[in-house]
Amino acid sequence: MDCDSAINSPFPPLENFDLHNHSNASDGLLPPAEVIRLAQQGKCDAVALTDHDTTSGLEEAANMANLLGMRFIPGIEISVSWRADSLNTTLHIVGLGIDRQNKILQDGLSAVREGRWGRAQQIGADLEQAGIHGAFEGACANAENKEMIGRTHFARYLVETGVAKSIANVFDRYLAKGKPGYVAHEWAALADAIAWIRHAGGVAVLAHPGRYKITEESMRELIEEFRSSGGEAIEVVTGSHQPHQFRQYAALAKEFNLLASRGADFHGLDESYYKPGTLPSLPAGLTPVWTIL
Ligand code: AMP
Ligand code: MN
Ligand code: MN
Ligand code: MN
Repeated sequence: MDCDSAINSPFPPLENFDLHNHSNASDGLLPPAEVIRLAQQGKCDAVALTDHDTTSGLEEAANMANLLGMRFIPGIEISVSWRADSLNTTLHIVGLGIDRQNKILQDGLSAVREGRWGRAQQIGADLEQAGIHGAFEGACANAENKEMIGRTHFARYLVETGVAKSIANVFDRYLAKGKPGYVAHEWAALADAIAWIRHAGGVAVLAHPGRYKITEESMRELIEEFRSSGGEAIEVVTGSHQPHQFRQYAALAKEFNLLASRGADFHGLDESYYKPGTLPSLPAGLTPVWTIL
């Protein structure tokens, strides 16, 4: 690229936006302020905090970003049950640029969080049945925010107690669909999650599509439904994708005319492949979601 075209390019390749990160307000390991510090070390131009089903970490993160002179994008990652009556696939919808004070969003998130405590008790009971003791208490002890107990908190307990070698191994053996500690749960409806995000002034992003175990045909139907419900972007480069999936979802972003997002899906230094800001750039030819943030 010559000098002029670099100046005229609307999307400089070096623009480093990381739009998917977790803190201990949900199932990340670090406090929100520490996630922002890491993003600065990763040379992010802008960073989003996108905790699962809660905005309780956003104020601390925004304050630290302000202190460091970094651009901060307030975010959320909402748990969704898609086609609850048939496929019943759990999806994640990221919201970017949300107003965390918005009542419609907050009411929706409270309802999503409400089921988590009972679900965690059931996971604990099912693991007891499978011969693993004290997992509910262990998961609680691992969760900074008791409203947001998730499978990751159980997974860490099983690693701490030597039941499994790694978080991934716990999911494979105990917590994934069909395994003894898996408890089916009905999360938000897709259209509702998107509507809450939009009411709060945010942009809805289909998170890590490569992780959903659905057919190619269902994926296309999902993207159609996501778009027709007001979704505008899809994650292409994420720590939850394999590199070949960067190309695969870049092609779908183009085909469906969706904006592209990029985010580490960072949970912790020893747990996540990418630290904030260290992912590859978006493939060429995509329109980054940050052009509208
Ligand atoms: P929950 O919302 O309680 O069902 O927990 C979902 C979280 O578990 C995700 O956001 C990931 O952080 C984590 N997770 C799910 N599947 C896996 C896996 N196979 N390996 C590691 N972590 C996983
Ligand atoms: Mn998570
Ligand atoms: Mn997710
Ligand atoms: Mn995530």
